[in-house]
Amino acid sequence: MKVLVCNAGSTSLKFKLYEMPACTVLATGKVERVGSCDDAIFGYCNTVTGYRVDAGKKNIPDYAVGINKFLFELTQGKGAVLTDIREIERVGYKSVLSKNHYGVHEIDEAVMQGMRDFLPLAPVHNSAYLKAIETVQAVLPNARHVGVFETAFHRDIPLERKIYGVPYEWYETYGIQRLGYHGASHGYIADCLNAEKKDYKAISCHLGGSASICGILNGKSVDTSFGMSLETGLIHANRVGDMDPTMINFLKQVGLSEEEILQGCQKKGGLLGISGVSNDLRYVLEAADGGNERAKLAVDVFVTGIVHYIGAFFLDLGGLTDLVFTAGIGEHSDRVRAMVCQRLGSIGVKLDAEANQKNAPIISAPDSAVTVRVIPTDEELGIARRTYELV
Ligand code: ADP
Repeated sequence: MKVLVCNAGSTSLKFKLYEMPACTVLATGKVERVGSCDDAIFGYCNTVTGYRVDAGKKNIPDYAVGINKFLFELTQGKGAVLTDIREIERVGYKSVLSKNHYGVHEIDEAVMQGMRDFLPLAPVHNSAYLKAIETVQAVLPNARHVGVFETAFHRDIPLERKIYGVPYEWYETYGIQRLGYHGASHGYIADCLNAEKKDYKAISCHLGGSASICGILNGKSVDTSFGMSLETGLIHANRVGDMDPTMINFLKQVGLSEEEILQGCQKKGGLLGISGVSNDLRYVLEAADGGNERAKLAVDVFVTGIVHYIGAFFLDLGGLTDLVFTAGIGEHSDRVRAMVCQRLGSIGVKLDAEANQKNAPIISAPDSAVTVRVIPTDEELGIARRTYELV
């Protein structure tokens, strides 16, 4: 079965076409800076033959133009892999959030309405997917369209770890609860561990522009650092992470506008907010090395947050067999991994410094009580699997 995976950003679309269940990638496509008349980027690759189309400075005024260019290359270009777009039986979307639809769902009007209802919780992500789904559905009307929501992997977290201390009716009526995100990534990490063993207690650290920690017991998520929105848990590149809700009212009273508060939490917070240097950890580390105290503080806050969640989830899981680092920072920053692991000696974590420097698949010492791993995430493959599995 041919499964197309669609990853939508506010001005970008990325595609991967899979042959399932073999999990073979047949083609990839990307459209960036959608909306630009002369500066949009289009790329296509037939991953079997290696044939590429890399074109910058294109006129791609909207998603429909970008998607049609991709479908043209897929079926009629020199690197075509299909003779007819109807060969695509399913399209899986790395969608974020839909009220009352937290798992893997065939997309219908109720799912779309749920995404509209939750626009205030994920304004950028949900509006991008609403637009992308409508456009792809119009050009591929015969395919089944499947929303693999980022919340899906966390659906079975026990209620005592999901519910907030708010009036119970808020949970029942408005759905107020911890939802968790990065489901495609943590789910993929669980797939990798499941392929090796059945009984395990793992903590997956997805550390990228957004960062989250997930406790995984024998393949299932049992804890997440993310709350109901994406501005929760660890500090992120430029988003706030956990914050006392009373501060919002206080900030209003001292004269900040709602817009200023939202900007501070969603765009000017996190690593950028504390360091004042950058939302990219590489620059923050560089500044810290140069003696910038706020940059040092930002790194410390980030690392301390990770250690706190690992400690809490260690107790919830009743032990730890595997600690996994993934995503941009998790996969590439030996320094952050070392700073975290240095503080985990009391739970038996011992790092192999040389393996860590090389980003090796296993970076713990042979006598470490916990196997520490670096696993490059593959969110699209996670989406393709969940889309294919949907009966
Ligand atoms: P996103 O969440 O946007 O998909 P990624 O998972 O690709 O992001 O992670 C991007 C982030 O990874 C960058 O912003 C950068 O801070 C960080 N990063 C990548 N490589 C390194 C490195 N060697 N050292 C520190 N940080 C790194």
